[in-house]
Amino acid sequence: MVKFLDLQKVTESHGAEIREAVDRVVRSGWYLQGQENAQFESDYARYIGTRHAVGVGNGLDALIWIFRAYIEMGIMQPGDEVIVPANTYIASILAITENGLTPVLVEPNLSTYQIDDSLIERAITTRTRAILIVHLYGQCAYTERIGELCRQYNLKLVEDNAQAHGCLYHGRRTGSLGDAAGHSFYPGKNLGALGDAGGVTTDDDELAATVRALANYGSTRKYVFRYTGRNSRLDEIEAAVLDVKLRYLDADNARRQSAAAYYLSHIKNPKITLPVLTDPTSHVFHIFPIRCADRDVLQQYLSDKGIQTIIHYPIPPHKQECYREWNHLSYPITELIHREELSLPMSPVMSEEELQYVVKTINEF
Ligand SMILES: *Cc1c(COP(=O)(O)O)cnc(C)c1O
Repeated sequence: MVKFLDLQKVTESHGAEIREAVDRVVRSGWYLQGQENAQFESDYARYIGTRHAVGVGNGLDALIWIFRAYIEMGIMQPGDEVIVPANTYIASILAITENGLTPVLVEPNLSTYQIDDSLIERAITTRTRAILIVHLYGQCAYTERIGELCRQYNLKLVEDNAQAHGCLYHGRRTGSLGDAAGHSFYPGKNLGALGDAGGVTTDDDELAATVRALANYGSTRKYVFRYTGRNSRLDEIEAAVLDVKLRYLDADNARRQSAAAYYLSHIKNPKITLPVLTDPTSHVFHIFPIRCADRDVLQQYLSDKGIQTIIHYPIPPHKQECYREWNHLSYPITELIHREELSLPMSPVMSEEELQYVVKTINEF
């Protein structure tokens, strides 16, 4: 059987060092807000190329805290609008609505699946305060045009980097391209912990301090509360594990890129649409998305042949029950992607035989 993602194998590929890190924390007697956090934050900030990295409980919270911090800083107000791709994972949208902000959905480009920068300007109103770009599937969504629009209209550029740790845009890492970025270290992500974990990167000192306080009960000093925050901290065990895995992130991403290169050059079936790369280093293949008009038939066929696949995602945010008020809206490109997308097995630990078998099976479909 070819698993979609063999997490046990991924963890075991750095198993000895991970166990050593966990054991060090267990023996230390210090489990929250200690040295492991400080070390990971400093290493991750250096890796991404920002002044600050702040560890938080998970990726959704990382995004929630960024917008909440902008509200606390007086830069945004409930009711303000945030432009976001219509085909993103629900967390990007939840982070906006959770703060009483209004998401303005913009269609993606059908060949890259990233927000279509030619449609952004007409979505800008006097209430627009930010663009939240999502580096979906591991591909950079940033473009010069998006940067220019942010400068021209004085908008914050926020990045959802949950799927793109290590991705490069002209030599700079995603997560350092805008004003602030939310990162998820959910176990299945390119940089994954052994449970929930997340982080915020930014060059903005005030934003970093506000996020840090919000995620720690709103406290700036012990037992002194400036904001009505919550408990959303990164614990020491996860920080220690992440610091080990960070050392191997580039090598692991290179393995994903070579698996993707193999799929790209060997899958030859007119029924299948392969992903389009804007630049070879600007995709770290968290997901390898293909499209097929007979997607559900293809998925069943692959499953019968022992190949696990996943759909990212079966229902777009505007068709979800939690956003009933948008259910009548129509985003045809987004809906087409959700109807046809299928994610092939992808990880840093796929064998040559597995890749060959997936390709051969798809080519025979
Ligand atoms: C995984 C993910 C998140 C949320 O991360 P969690 O750590 O699961 O809360 C946010 N945005 C995108 C695009 C994601 O893929």
